Amino acid sequence: MLNTTKVRDEDLIVRILTQNEVLTLYRFYGARHSYINVGFYIDFVVEETYKATIKRLRNVVQIPFSFMFDRQKMLDFKIFTTLMNKHLIDVSKIDSFYYDLMFEISQKMENRDSKRLLVESYVKLLEKEGRLHKEHKCFLCEREIKDKVALARAFLPAHERCVMSEGFEKEKLNLLFSEKKSLLLDDNEIQKLWSIVNLGF
Ligand SMILES: [Zn+2]
Repeated sequence: MLNTTKVRDEDLIVRILTQNEVLTLYRFYGARHSYINVGFYIDFVVEETYKATIKRLRNVVQIPFSFMFDRQKMLDFKIFTTLMNKHLIDVSKIDSFYYDLMFEISQKMENRDSKRLLVESYVKLLEKEGRLHKEHKCFLCEREIKDKVALARAFLPAHERCVMSEGFEKEKLNLLFSEKKSLLLDDNEIQKLWSIVNLGF
C-alpha cells in the first residue's frame, strides 16, 4: 500500500504497488472493513465498474509482516514507502524491480537494522535506474574528489566544501555502492545517509 487519501467522509483513494502496475483504486467506507494503512502488505480484489472511471478495491486481507510490532522498524518502512510513492507518482505500468525490492525489504526487516537495510535498498534502486554515481567526481564543480566524498540528494558525490557537508571515506562508500553492503559504516554515518534518503528518491 503506497498511499491512502481520504475523500468524502471515510472513503479512500488508494495507490497499490503490484508487480507490474501501480493501481489507483477507490474504497468505499464500511464499518466492517479492515483498517488499511501505508506500508501494509495486502491481498485484494479489483472490482471492475461500468460507470465509474476508477475501479474499486474489494476484499482486502492484510498479510502481516514479522516486524509489525516493532514500532521503529514499521515507522522507517512507512517513511520509505511514502518516499517510494512520491517517486512513482506518475507511474502506472512498472518494472517488477520495485515490487520485488519492497518485498525483499519486508522479508529481511525482522533480522536487520532497518535504516541500514533501507539505505542499502535505496542504493539498489539508484543503480537500477542508472543514477548511482560510483566515480569520485563532484557533481557541482566537476573536479575529481581526492579526499572524503560528501553526498547530496540522490547520493550525488561532491566535495565537502562544495555542498558544505561532512564526507564519507571512499572505501566505505565503495563497498556500499558496489556490494550494497553498509558494514563499514558506523551508526552515525548510517543516520546521515538515511537523512539524505529522506530528502527524496
Ligand atoms: Zn566540487
